[in-house]
Amino acid sequence: MAAREYAAAAPEFLPLHNNINAPLIQLKSAHFLNAAKKQEKRRQPARGKTFVNLHAARYNIGMNRPDFDKMMQKEITLLGGRRARLLLHSCCAPCSSACLERLKDAFCVTVLYYNPNIEFDEYVKRKAEQVRFLKETGWADILDCDHEGEKFYEACRGTEHLPEGGARCLKCFELRLARTAAEAKAGGYEYFATTLTVSPLKPAAAINAIGERLAEGCGVKWLPSDFKKRGGYQRSCALAREYSLYRQNYCGCEFSRKERERADAQRKDGCQK
Ligand code: SF4
Repeated sequence: MAAREYAAAAPEFLPLHNNINAPLIQLKSAHFLNAAKKQEKRRQPARGKTFVNLHAARYNIGMNRPDFDKMMQKEITLLGGRRARLLLHSCCAPCSSACLERLKDAFCVTVLYYNPNIEFDEYVKRKAEQVRFLKETGWADILDCDHEGEKFYEACRGTEHLPEGGARCLKCFELRLARTAAEAKAGGYEYFATTLTVSPLKPAAAINAIGERLAEGCGVKWLPSDFKKRGGYQRSCALAREYSLYRQNYCGCEFSRKERERADAQRKDGCQK
């Protein structure tokens, strides 16, 4: 996606490196990285390449490449063994498995399965697996909520045509995390977080930036994460096999399903030629 398009759709997620107070958002997926690089070139200010990463400064773990996994570990250390209440947004049972395994001893975790982006039949299937997994492991409680599919279409209006990894996904992350932050505040939780960062296809930097921004507005702490680190994604695959969890082959919304179907058809065509 062109940087201009990206900036127009979601300007608040772009790194404004000419503002020394702006948090660095390191966008790791190819889509985000290319857009961010072009944007950064245009914005490269008199200050040159020097900027302060507020996240990294807060956790004292290096200034240029924020490591959200280390931030999470540091936050847990700071708790000193006290099990704080955490509301964890989960996108599906397989993704939640490795995240919960990591969090369950440090936090008193409740899972919020709020995913209006997922098509309804698929949503029901994934939610049932989430409930079964939590029942079998006892690693967290679950906070129920409605599907609210219309909210996703409202939120992503105008970005339907964009590929996975573009501005539609940022709106999708924001929608789900905003509800998680609101539920966390209403329920008196100390932290909120998401399993989304376990996916190698999702940019941890953008997700953490959204979480941080929402936390400022709601008074509940955002737990930074990059669950794919330390083999988190591989562990989620292993746990999915161990618990025989249904593992979908597309992200969740109808647009990602169609994208996947087109790619499958093209591959098939290629094989037949
Ligand atoms: S591709 Fe995934 S993250 Fe992006 S909008 Fe669709 S469901 Fe949301």
